[in-house]
Amino acid sequence: MFEATSAAAALLPEDKPRHFLGIGDPEGVLQVIARGVDTFDCVLPTRTARTGSALTREGRLNLRNARFARDERPLEDGCTCPACSRFSRAYIRHLVNQHEILGLRLLSLHNLRFLLDLVAAARRAIERGEFLAWRDEALRRAKGATE
Ligand SMILES: [Zn+2]
Repeated sequence: MFEATSAAAALLPEDKPRHFLGIGDPEGVLQVIARGVDTFDCVLPTRTARTGSALTREGRLNLRNARFARDERPLEDGCTCPACSRFSRAYIRHLVNQHEILGLRLLSLHNLRFLLDLVAAARRAIERGEFLAWRDEALRRAKGATE
């Protein structure tokens, strides 16, 4: 897929925006940005939330996992989303495991905020001329802690 994206991007005008339909995982988004893609849309952030998982800089967190039962931290430190600013991993885990729709909605809000923050950081790295090094570090961090 990434090879095909590179080949297609080389054929498209450089002064026009390039949209990739159906990519939303953080690694994939960063990989296609590196190949010249500007915008994306995908169900992944909300679908992932509906399975009880959060996207974070350190990889995915499956909130159904018992290790979060007493975890009072937010889904991600520093995140400004409504879930992270008000609720703990333990509480969101409780909501998810009790089939309370609020848990899945909070995870959706968090995952959308995560991706918006990710692409904003990617834009800043592009503007600094440091995108490839920034991408490699972001991918290394996400792989290191994915469960
Ligand atoms: Zn959040």
